[in-house]
Amino acid sequence: MLRLLTLLFLAASLSGQTRTFSGAEALAFTGRAVAFGPRPDGSPAIAKLRAFIRQQLASRGCEVTGDAFTAETPDGPLPMENIIAKFPGKSGKAIAITGHYDTKKLANFVGANDGGSSTGFLLELAAVLQNRPRIDNIYLVFFDGEEAVRDWTATDSVYGSRHLAQKWTADGTNRRLKALINVDMIGDKNIRILWDGNSAASLREMFWNTADTLGYREYFPREGGPIEDDHMPFIDEGVRALDVINFGSQNTFWHTPKDTMDKLNAHAFQVVGDVLVKVVGELEEQK
Ligand SMILES: [Zn+2]
Repeated sequence: MLRLLTLLFLAASLSGQTRTFSGAEALAFTGRAVAFGPRPDGSPAIAKLRAFIRQQLASRGCEVTGDAFTAETPDGPLPMENIIAKFPGKSGKAIAITGHYDTKKLANFVGANDGGSSTGFLLELAAVLQNRPRIDNIYLVFFDGEEAVRDWTATDSVYGSRHLAQKWTADGTNRRLKALINVDMIGDKNIRILWDGNSAASLREMFWNTADTLGYREYFPREGGPIEDDHMPFIDEGVRALDVINFGSQNTFWHTPKDTMDKLNAHAFQVVGDVLVKVVGELEEQK
């Protein structure tokens, strides 16, 4: 199988169709998302961003579906929608790469890193997956409603991932998932990915070991603590899930108006993209 894959990759490279993950392109996509301004649920800006995401995905050879629902929030019902891009494979198994596109409702908050970077990362990943030979179904999921409408609680947070985790258990998708990898706040120049204690240990080891192999050890210290993010509703449903997040004392601009594009760089996206794309290939080799 490895030899066959190598041949497929070679054939695709010779035809000039493959694209390796570009941190610069991911940063540029992030800039386009952030240019819509603050994007909290219920805002005209988030509706415009949804249309932009769909427009970008339309040319990527994937099946795009919307997972729309009404969230019951402390501020009343709010319409939300996860956007799901499916890149079909052949094995009947699946891998999901996820991140959120909403931003927290705060004055003058554009969420370049928090909400923007995950959106830009996934849009670049769609371009990479477009003509890549695939074994498994690859889902890219743009979650809505990650942020708390008021203060973070179990019921006021991760609305989109809670909704999809239930839906994917009901329709059988979760059973076919080899892994779910969530990215959040991965564009910060001071890249230092948290070793999340809530994530599936085997998947976390795989990701961190691959980072070591690629020479990125300094960005993946084996320290951190348990974090709640969009991976948790899937962990709760028995999915092998991992959160890749740059979160810690270095996040001086987190949830402040200073979370702007100048805090990001292409290198951070490149590091996470290189590791993630390699891990997806390794997961596809697993039965
Ligand atoms: Zn946030």
